[in-house]
Amino acid sequence: MGKIQPPINAISKPYWDGCQQGVLRVQRCVACRHLQLYPRILCTQCTSTELDWVAVSGKGKIASYTVVTRAISKAYAAPYVVALIDLDEGPRMMSTIIDSDGSDVAVGMAVNVAFQAWSETVTMPVFHID
Ligand SMILES: [Zn+2]
Repeated sequence: MGKIQPPINAISKPYWDGCQQGVLRVQRCVACRHLQLYPRILCTQCTSTELDWVAVSGKGKIASYTVVTRAISKAYAAPYVVALIDLDEGPRMMSTIIDSDGSDVAVGMAVNVAFQAWSETVTMPVFHID
């Protein structure tokens, strides 16, 4: 059994396409310029449905994290770190911190995005400590 694959739909496809190209994208509201992630059908600030996509730097800081010590399947090698990342541009996203068992992770640490191919169609954004 491989890793669980996220569903890709019309709303999230630009996000996943960007990841395959090595670019982290977030949604931007055309009306009020608010940036948001995960992808939605409307702006969480002004409810406009006019949204486009912009590339972000991939830099952020760890807002919170946990260390998973029991993997749900052999496809996931425990221990691994699941973290909430506050991107420098604003949106908060959940991801993993790669190359870490958690002993070197702390809230507030600077991280940088990297990309891992999970299948032919899914490339996952992950982060490493800066
Ligand atoms: Zn808006």
